Amino acid sequence: MPLDAAILERATAQEVIDWAIRTYGRKLAFTTSFQSEGMVVIDMAARRSSDIRVLTLDTGRLPEETYRMIETVRSRYSIAVECVAPDAVEVERMTTLHGPNLFYDSVAKRRLCCEIRKVRPLERRLAAFDAWVTGLRRGQGATRESLAKVDQSNGRPKISPLADWSKDQVEDYTRRHDVPRHPLYESGYTSIGCEPCTRATDISEHERAGRWWWEEDAAKECGLHFNAGGKMERTIDVLLREVTGAARA
Ligand code: SF4
Repeated sequence: MPLDAAILERATAQEVIDWAIRTYGRKLAFTTSFQSEGMVVIDMAARRSSDIRVLTLDTGRLPEETYRMIETVRSRYSIAVECVAPDAVEVERMTTLHGPNLFYDSVAKRRLCCEIRKVRPLERRLAAFDAWVTGLRRGQGATRESLAKVDQSNGRPKISPLADWSKDQVEDYTRRHDVPRHPLYESGYTSIGCEPCTRATDISEHERAGRWWWEEDAAKECGLHFNAGGKMERTIDVLLREVTGAARA
């Protein structure tokens, strides 16, 4: 089926997922960190096919509760979860040069850690796929406001079936379909990532305020879905070259 982004933009989340499975089959990667949005997408996809491929980034710094979610998803849906790990040599070199908790030193070093533990491993793994699916929503912050349901700007289509969903819609679907919930939501977390970089939020805070909470003005993004641009990218390139010998692609 030809990709018509304008038609897909008007389609429901389930219709977008159905189209993606039909179009890409096992060349479609469902990427998730097991937050509620990603779990809704997995639930919708698993209802249509038992042959979906689910990828998660095992950064090496995940909370124990996320590993429990991997086990939950495996048993609930009878699907494998492909754990994508960073390059061990790159991690070794980065932590030797800058320490294991470099992310607290500066935004640039935090972005370097995300680049080594998330962005580069995912790029390497996605090279074997024709398209990928995320659980992103436009309402999650300014950097996601213009998110398309199907974004073809970087070659490989990035599909976000929940782009126009609200947080309440996600919660409602989760309740109605008894979708497994990440245990950290019960502890006041509203967005969940690596253990040292995520904290619970209070009711007055934005849902992503607990991510890299010590950073004042930086975008609450790891680089998977966003480039800071300009000076920041050049700074990261310098740090990255020290670790890998190569700049960003
Ligand atoms: Fe590193 Fe934190 Fe990014 Fe995880 S979220 S990759 S620990 S900086």
